[in-house]
Amino acid sequence: MKFIYCPICSDKLIEKEIGDEGLVRYCASCQRPYFDEPSSCVEVLVINERNQILLLKQNYITETHWGVVSGHVTNGETLEETVVREVLEETGQEVERMQYVESYYFMPNELIMAGFIAFVHAKPFNNSNEVDDLMWCEIGEVNKYIARVNNMSGIHFDNSMRVLKMNN
Ligand SMILES: [Zn+2]
Repeated sequence: MKFIYCPICSDKLIEKEIGDEGLVRYCASCQRPYFDEPSSCVEVLVINERNQILLLKQNYITETHWGVVSGHVTNGETLEETVVREVLEETGQEVERMQYVESYYFMPNELIMAGFIAFVHAKPFNNSNEVDDLMWCEIGEVNKYIARVNNMSGIHFDNSMRVLKMNN
């Protein structure tokens, strides 16, 4: 995010040479740099003991397709803690182990998304107000539902299948 004014004191930021970072926006009053950084998110493919994939319907994201678990990293949290928290909050599933896949840059929202696979034993779904519906989907059926336009769910599913050496 590119700040013009300091979000703490609202002074106009200057540009300052900082180490080998080059010119960085800087608040002279707070003596604080503001790097042009993306927000951090996780993108999580949840898979159960029967190799079914958890898909979420979130109408505020897309009304026609289904996606995987995603969420913002909270300050003070590791990526792994975010994965465990978001999977529990959005689906009620408890992550038993996880595997990193790869990261994605989502231009429209300036997000860096760390992609994981989370392995669970299927538990009853919970009710999250961010999620309109949930389903366990057979791997061969996922392509009928998963969002691929303006959404990283599809590519993350593909990459996860490649990492798990499963055919989709
Ligand atoms: Zn300031």
